[in-house]
Amino acid sequence: MTLIQCEECSQPISERARTCAQCGYPRLPPPWTHRAFKVLVGLAAAIFISMFVLSMILAWVSRKPFELDLRDIEPRTTLQLQDAPGRLG
Ligand SMILES: [Zn+2]
Repeated sequence: MTLIQCEECSQPISERARTCAQCGYPRLPPPWTHRAFKVLVGLAAAIFISMFVLSMILAWVSRKPFELDLRDIEPRTTLQLQDAPGRLG
């Protein structure tokens, strides 16, 4: 339990107290920062997950051109390996 200073009488009161136990000064509604933090974290997680899913969908959509690129590269590397011994000898 955290003690804070009353805005009215400067006496130490509980952070969760809605009114000051010393002078009865009404405090602001219960701390909403924790709830706002949870909402922000949830929002960030939702954005991150949606971005991840979107990138996975984009990767899946662009899958076929990538496979064609690999087929184009493969014969070239084979030719380079065949040329190398001929140039040395
Ligand atoms: Zn007070």
